[in-house]
Amino acid sequence: MTPKEVLEFAKEQGAKEVDIRFMDYPGLWQHFSVPLCELSEDSFEEGFGFDGSSIRGWQPINASDMLVVPDASTALMDPFFASPTLVLIGDIKDPITGEPYSRDPRNVAKKAEAYLKSTGIGDTAFIGPEAEFFIFDNVQFESASNVSYYEVDSVEGIWNTARPEEPNLGYKPRHKQGYFPVPPMDKFQDLRSEMMLTLEQLGIAVECQHHEVATAGQAEIDMRFAPLLKMSDQLMWFKYVLKNVAYKAGHTVTFMPKPLYGDNGTGMHTHVSIWKDGQPLFAGDKYAGVSDIALYAIGGILKHCKALCAFTNPTTNSYKRLVPGYEAPVNLAYSSRNRSASVRIPMYSSSPKAKRIEFRTPDPSCNGYLAFSAILMAVLDGIQNKVDPGQPLDKDIYSLPPEELANIPSAPGSLQEALAALKEDHDFLLKGDVFTQDAIDMWIDYKTENEVDAVNLRPHPHEFMLYYDI
Ligand code: GLN
Ligand code: MG
Ligand code: MG
Ligand code: MG
Repeated sequence: MTPKEVLEFAKEQGAKEVDIRFMDYPGLWQHFSVPLCELSEDSFEEGFGFDGSSIRGWQPINASDMLVVPDASTALMDPFFASPTLVLIGDIKDPITGEPYSRDPRNVAKKAEAYLKSTGIGDTAFIGPEAEFFIFDNVQFESASNVSYYEVDSVEGIWNTARPEEPNLGYKPRHKQGYFPVPPMDKFQDLRSEMMLTLEQLGIAVECQHHEVATAGQAEIDMRFAPLLKMSDQLMWFKYVLKNVAYKAGHTVTFMPKPLYGDNGTGMHTHVSIWKDGQPLFAGDKYAGVSDIALYAIGGILKHCKALCAFTNPTTNSYKRLVPGYEAPVNLAYSSRNRSASVRIPMYSSSPKAKRIEFRTPDPSCNGYLAFSAILMAVLDGIQNKVDPGQPLDKDIYSLPPEELANIPSAPGSLQEALAALKEDHDFLLKGDVFTQDAIDMWIDYKTENEVDAVNLRPHPHEFMLYYDI
């Protein structure tokens, strides 16, 4: 849509307000609303001013005036607000220089797409995330320093006890058995359908919805692949729709990677392919029907995987998922069938157009704009430098002798390790000015202070259980 068409669309839809949205650096949507009469064709050039000082990862207080400039192509009606409201996603600009803000994740994604074109390798990067999530009831946040004995008593930890067990536990999927019996074992068919249909109503194509492997409430809804920036925008809508549909029904949705000890975690396997002039570049006659370019792309992902994790698995909780035994990938290797490998080549279809690589490490606690951009940069680095991905890992890793297993590198064991890897290995992200040094340094500092240290230095509820009466 052009700005003029957006104004017509808003009138047609009876919009009374316009909600302007953008995300903070970790990736949570922020918003404010203005009456419809405040929106004119000029707004799409001039933007709206706001104070950026309290946005996580942004400007210090002395340089906080920012502009958000709505992107006309993102116009949609909000499906939840009582007052009919047009939603526009915006780009952040400096009001003095008019320059795009280097710490605006959407700006990073735009630069990543522009960089892809500038390399001549391809013109479009398609991204297809398989975002999983949990549906819970009545989660109560308790600070860990204020843990009650009831919570400490739980073997499974604080979060499990926050999920009240209903008196009638018949038809309850056991741990790791949620994939995927019909109702009444599956209690969330109707809720997932409402989520899926709301996404469809917004023009977001969905391929499938289903219960996932973990006990009651783990789910997956798969969006059809789309170009990188479009998919990043869609992922914001996706999280918003799922949370709001759940909330209306008295539930909550979490994208936290490992909410339950001893059960499967929540991943966001990310499918990637690059196209040029309408042709797919990843199909070929090499291993599992891929091209040399695709193998180099895999080489790039594996080479930079530890640093990539700082963006694709950016929470302390992410690393409680990346452990053996829960279908989460631990080995930095590739395979067409081994799901413990971090990169898989799906064999569902023989069509060259469907040929893609599936990076299984990411989880949905990431900011899609940053994660997808970082993945693309690793892929391009692999292609530019013809990085050899080595031999595929087609053996059953559980039967490998320890000497052989020791040769396969592993995903980072903690956020701290991923941030240390990013500190050492980020030149591939700086190409084309896609990520700036300032944004990378800020990310490492922000995550270290606010998350790594904040979690490491706090007594854990389970420590009370282990040591209280020592
Ligand atoms: N939930 C698993 C993960 O953490 C994957 C399960 C699946 O989709 N096969 O990646
Ligand atoms: Mg899936
Ligand atoms: Mg899944
Ligand atoms: Mg998958």
